[in-house]
Amino acid sequence: MKPVSSALDPSQIHQSSPGQANEHEVNPWEAQAARFDLAARKLNLDEGLWKVLRYPAREIIVHIPVAMDDGSLEVFTGFRVQHSIARGPGKGGIRYSPDVNLDEVRALASWMTWKCAVVNIPFGGAKGGIICDPHKMSQGELERMTRRYTSELIEFIGPEKDVPAPDMNTNEQTMAWIMDTYSMHMRQTVTSVVTGKPVNIGGSRGRREATGRGILIVCNEAVAKLGFNPDSTRVIIQGFGNVGSNAARLMAETGYKIIGIAEVDGGLYNPNGLDIEALWEFRQRIGSVQGFKEAEKVDAAELLTRECEILIPAATENQITSKNAGQLRCKILAEGANGPTTAAADDILSEKKIFVIPDILCNAGGVTASYFEWVQDRQGYFWKESVVNDQLEHIMKSSFADVVRYAETHSVNNRIAAYMLAIDRVAYTIRQRGIYA
Ligand code: NAD
Repeated sequence: MKPVSSALDPSQIHQSSPGQANEHEVNPWEAQAARFDLAARKLNLDEGLWKVLRYPAREIIVHIPVAMDDGSLEVFTGFRVQHSIARGPGKGGIRYSPDVNLDEVRALASWMTWKCAVVNIPFGGAKGGIICDPHKMSQGELERMTRRYTSELIEFIGPEKDVPAPDMNTNEQTMAWIMDTYSMHMRQTVTSVVTGKPVNIGGSRGRREATGRGILIVCNEAVAKLGFNPDSTRVIIQGFGNVGSNAARLMAETGYKIIGIAEVDGGLYNPNGLDIEALWEFRQRIGSVQGFKEAEKVDAAELLTRECEILIPAATENQITSKNAGQLRCKILAEGANGPTTAAADDILSEKKIFVIPDILCNAGGVTASYFEWVQDRQGYFWKESVVNDQLEHIMKSSFADVVRYAETHSVNNRIAAYMLAIDRVAYTIRQRGIYA
């Protein structure tokens, strides 16, 4: 990312279109910026607002000491990026990974701004991460690292400022530690500082499955639009973590045939449909999907290119690139992960007429249920799961309709339509508030 300075050149708006993004294809920030620039140009967004919205409002880097189990002291680097708080408090997950870096967190924070605007909930966008390998750390080390990270960010997070949530390699336990640490500093229990908590300490019923449920809802809408029948619709999913496994379970329950699961250590394929409940139990017991008997073991990358109606990348970024997009044989690409497709791959998917449900719409079920959790915590009144699911369905269906209508009206693909819709909403709010410049 270019440094933000008063010398920002508005002509940059023309410099990073998807067609030219190849040399930086796998940098998520470049991928985000390429789509933002294209959508902003189509909206004729004025130069000032373009500059305001293109860059994150605040980026925090912390170096946190952690006492390790062997008595040594380790220092971990963490980030929190707040892209925009124009429409409400920042909202976005925290990721623990050896590969997480500032450009990735910037991209993820921007995507949160656009995602919250697409589903029209009153949040801005933020994201966080710590460079670490959580699989090599004990629970005690993870807890101490999480608490110190939280305390370093104490002035910057809060129910009205920035509300973290789980992301890759963080979970309900991580959120409980953050909530507790924040509460200790505030001298009172503040449940609404994070979402994705355990249900008994202010979590929402239905939150755990919400991203997967949102994917099911938008896939149902796409299948109906394209005239398929769920019962004869074959699905391949990459990633069997929170998002992928819940999408798989809910879709299998609805009648979709899940024929492939690609995981980090290999793929599983069964053209007659995998028994997802059995696979789920197997994974709970063994800790991996490898060794599951009722499936053929296949190469995980090759599995993405097998014939199916719906392909759901639900693992990580940059899985559909200019290298493999031409080989995809799906009709619908439902992006469960954030940023699974590079900007260069977008053009290839458009040429192939693959119906893309873009990440900022497709996986927005998670943040939508997080919004419900935040509302419930502030109300002190907790909803039945059926209420959460009904409200989620309403928001996902109407957002899908908004994006598809926008795409048809403006003759753009679904992704650019989602960006245009989102940028337009955020820009409208900023114009209304005025800029304190
Ligand atoms: P997770 O850590 O629970 O699961 C990720 C899974 O993907 C793991 O099982 C991992 O082994 C697998 N994986 C990682 N790299 C892979 C690869 N290259 N090939 C195949 N499998 C791979 O994480 P999650 O919460 O399910 O998040 C997955 C994606 O969805 C991320 O992009 C995240 O930002 C996005 N997302 C998550 C939520 C949420 O509510 N958890 C909401 C919106 C978006």
